[in-house]
Amino acid sequence: MSPATAHIALTFSGKGAVVTGAASGIGAAVTALLLDAGIRTLALDLREPEQVSGPRARLHVPCAVDVRDRRGVQDVIDEHAGDGLSYVVNCAGIIETTGFGGVGQDQWSRALDVNLAGAYNVIDAATTHLADSGAGAIVNISSIESHRVVALTDPDPTPQYAASKAGLSMLTRTAARALAGRGIRVNSIAPGFIATPMAAAHGDTTQLPGRLASRVPAGRFGTPDEIASAAAFLLSDQSAYTTGSELLVDGGFELT
Ligand code: NAP
Repeated sequence: MSPATAHIALTFSGKGAVVTGAASGIGAAVTALLLDAGIRTLALDLREPEQVSGPRARLHVPCAVDVRDRRGVQDVIDEHAGDGLSYVVNCAGIIETTGFGGVGQDQWSRALDVNLAGAYNVIDAATTHLADSGAGAIVNISSIESHRVVALTDPDPTPQYAASKAGLSMLTRTAARALAGRGIRVNSIAPGFIATPMAAAHGDTTQLPGRLASRVPAGRFGTPDEIASAAAFLLSDQSAYTTGSELLVDGGFELT
């Protein structure tokens, strides 16, 4: 941003964040943005996220934990929430593109356990801390697949991923209702096609493949930073009246 660019600041009256899936893609971008804002961030992932350099390093607490492990998630959050915890961003997720037929029980379990129950584990483990902080806010990274059939590489959609994301959207709404009385807001973001390692597993992310180009009016992949900016807004004081909503950040995919 040039010095002459007009801007409106986001403010954060809370203290401390937890981000899952923080080693890669959207989670890494969210973590970087929160650290830049001066928010101490517990960065969780299956493998410990790399330590950052410079002045942000003192705010960055990287930890390896599997979001499916309720006890492990609770322990790491309790251990590090002492200085205040106000924000949670659930980015950890997996996609195993299978198409519709013959999805195994283990594939169903993995998708639902990581993408849905994993987010619940983090929310539940953090709730008391968020309530104590007086400014709690949660953002779940859902998907356009939460409410629309999308077939990435196959003619068939992948049902266990779509169902896990639809469940996450409903978890957002039930949590928003359940936790409102404790001063905690809960929203989700439904990203479209975002250039991350997850998307790269399906091919080149520098430009949309032909079959998708006509379905995305923006004409390009989104960036992890664009999702992080949306998450920052939903955590900020400026969205204090927003809870239980899902924000589409999809380059207009919903319009086609
Ligand atoms: P990504 O680059 O693959 O990052 C996801 C991270 O979550 C990875 O570091 C992954 O670790 C971690 N993770 C997986 N299972 C975990 C577990 N059990 N416990 C803790 N961490 C775990 O993917 P991304 O594109 O940034 O995706 C972030 C979120 O956005 C996901 O929920 C995804 O479904 C959603 N999303 C992405 C897109 C897109 O186009 N990229 C679109 C819509 C929604 P490993 O790498 O070791 O597995």
